[in-house]
Amino acid sequence: MSRDFTYGGSPAHIVFGQGKSATAADWVNKLGCSRALVLSTPQQKGDAEALAAKLGPLAAGVFAGAVMHTPVDVTETAMKVVAETRADCVVALGGGSTTGLGKAIAYRTDMPQIVIPTTYAGSEVTAILGQTEGGRKTTVRHESILPEVVIYDPALTLGLPVGMSVTSGLNAMAHAVEGLYAQDRNPISTLMAVEGLRAFKTSLPGIIATPAAPDLRGDALYGAWLCGTVLGTVGMALHHKICHTLGGTFDTPHADTHAIMLAHTAAYNAVSVSDLLAPVAGIFGGSVGGGLWDFAREIGAPLGLRDLGLTEADLDRAAEIATENPYWNPRPIDRKSIRALLQDAWEGRRPE
Ligand code: NAD
Repeated sequence: MSRDFTYGGSPAHIVFGQGKSATAADWVNKLGCSRALVLSTPQQKGDAEALAAKLGPLAAGVFAGAVMHTPVDVTETAMKVVAETRADCVVALGGGSTTGLGKAIAYRTDMPQIVIPTTYAGSEVTAILGQTEGGRKTTVRHESILPEVVIYDPALTLGLPVGMSVTSGLNAMAHAVEGLYAQDRNPISTLMAVEGLRAFKTSLPGIIATPAAPDLRGDALYGAWLCGTVLGTVGMALHHKICHTLGGTFDTPHADTHAIMLAHTAAYNAVSVSDLLAPVAGIFGGSVGGGLWDFAREIGAPLGLRDLGLTEADLDRAAEIATENPYWNPRPIDRKSIRALLQDAWEGRRPE
C-alpha cells in the first residue's frame, strides 16, 4: 500500500480520570499562573463556584455568563472581569459554549487555558473559535486558541441530561465520520475516529439505561476526546457545512442538528467513499447511513429537522446557502441533491 500523509501531534496536555478535576490547582501552578478566572454558563454556576472554592487562593473569580455561539459582547464583558480580577489564566468548566468563551479570551490575551469539558462536543481539543457578532458567525483558527490543558473527569458529566448526552454524542461522532474521508486524514486520525465511534456505540445505549454510571460516562468522554481530536486535526466536509448553515441561518440547536444530519450526510458520501466509511458500517451494522440512523433511533435522538422548528420552505434557502461556498467534499454536491437530502432529514426518513 502506498502511504502519503502529514502528521502533527497536539501539544496539549490531556488528563483523564474520575475525580481528576481536583488536579486543576496543580495545573494552574504548572502553567506558572496564580490567578485563575473560572468560567461557566449561568446553569453551571454552582459547579464553577465549587471549583473556585477548591482552587482557593488560586481562584481570581468566577464569570458565569457563557452562552451558545460565543457572542462578542459577552466576551467583552468577560474581558472587563479579566482586567478587574487581574486573572492570568482561565479555567473553563462546561460544554462547547463555555470552552468557546475561554478560547475567545485566550485569543485576545494569549492566556493559558485549562478546560474541564462536561459535554461531548470536542471544542476543547481544537484551535478553532467560532464567534458571533451582529447575527454573523465567523471562525478563526490560531495556535493561541488551543487549550493547554484538558481535564476529562467523568464525575462532572454524571448529571448531563440523557437527551443532551445522546445529541452531544452524535455531534462528536460526526467529527469522526467526516474525519474518515478527510483529504488531509492520516493513520492516527483514522485510528482515533474508529476508536471514538466504538466508544460511543457501546456507551450511549448504556447511559440511557444508567445515566450516572461513571464507567459509561468515562467511555463517552473518551470518545469525545478522540472524536474532538479528529475535528482539531483534519478538515471537515458536507456534514459540518450543512450544520453550520442550519445553525447560523435558522438558529437550530447545535448538537440536535448534528444528531439529525449525520446519517444523511454519511449516506450521501458513502456513495463515493464506501471503502473509507466501511468501519462505520462495520460498527453500526448494515449500510453506513442506515446503521447510523438505526443507532440514532435506538438511543432516542431527534430524527427530523421539522422537530427543530424548521419549515419545509426553509429547506430551499438552506440548500442554496450550503452549496454556495461548499467545503471540499468526497462526493460532488449540487443544489438538487442537497435539497433532496435535506428533505429526507426534515421528514426523518431512514436513508437507504
Ligand atoms: P453547551 O456548552 O451550550 O451546553 C448546553 C447546555 O448544557 C448549557 O446550558 C450547559 O450549561 C449545560 N451543560 C453542559 N454540561 C452539563 C452537565 N454535565 N450537566 C448539566 N448541564 C450541562 O453545548 P455544547 O453542545 O457542548 O456546545 C455547543 C457550542 O460549542 C456551539 O456554540 C458550538 O459551535 C461550539 N463548538 C465549537 C467547537 C470548536 O471546535 N470550536 C466544537 C464543537 C462545538
